[in-house]
Amino acid sequence: MKTLRKAAALLIRIIYPCRCIGCGELLDINKDQWLCADCSKDFKEPDGYRCESCGRHIDCKGKCSDCRLDKIYFDKGYCVLDYKGAVRNAILRFKYKNKFRYAKYFGKILSDYADSNILFRYDYVTAVPLHKARFKKRGYNQSELMARILAKNINSEYRDLLIRQRPTLPQNSLSKKQRQDNIKNAFIPAKNSDIKGKGILVVDDIFTTGATMNECCRVLKKHGAYQVDFIALSSRSNEE
Ligand SMILES: [Zn+2]
Ligand SMILES: [Zn+2]
Repeated sequence: MKTLRKAAALLIRIIYPCRCIGCGELLDINKDQWLCADCSKDFKEPDGYRCESCGRHIDCKGKCSDCRLDKIYFDKGYCVLDYKGAVRNAILRFKYKNKFRYAKYFGKILSDYADSNILFRYDYVTAVPLHKARFKKRGYNQSELMARILAKNINSEYRDLLIRQRPTLPQNSLSKKQRQDNIKNAFIPAKNSDIKGKGILVVDDIFTTGATMNECCRVLKKHGAYQVDFIALSSRSNEE
């Protein structure tokens, strides 16, 4: 039976060959891989300092400029990878090219990171929500897919705790001030969400200025969450 299953899996991989999620190169069908040797270098956790508050990779000890200047609503942030090279390519495909199956790999990256770095036991894991129009267009919320895998692996429960009540402009084309205005009051708690007194971990794919994540955490805190942390698959440096 086991041999049969193995043969079927191999056959599927011959018909649908596996490609590197970073560069698209064909991978060895006999190995269970997501990345080629070159791209896997970008998927290593960066060495050096991390912001004491949001956890992003920075040049010197302490806090990043956003965390120094802004009012921060999360208790602790965790950013796993740097948003560059193969990581950036893979996330773009994951979000915009229908590659929702990458969630399996990204969910594992988040789970492994949480296992080694997070001691807190969360009541709920949730994701930064999309507006329903964008969700309909994309067909999935990439952060939710990762968050569901993470929740299972850290023995927590996934819940949709927030709703994006109005459409917002894509944050990547805006300045920091514009991002904050764009996202202000965009989120409300989902109906019957059980936030009060709870420990919550919010999941997102990219952490840039933190405006979106901070706003999600503000709403959760405002509605009585006891502890709100976040984990992002990747972060962009704000020191450039
Ligand atoms: Zn590659
Ligand atoms: Zn920071």
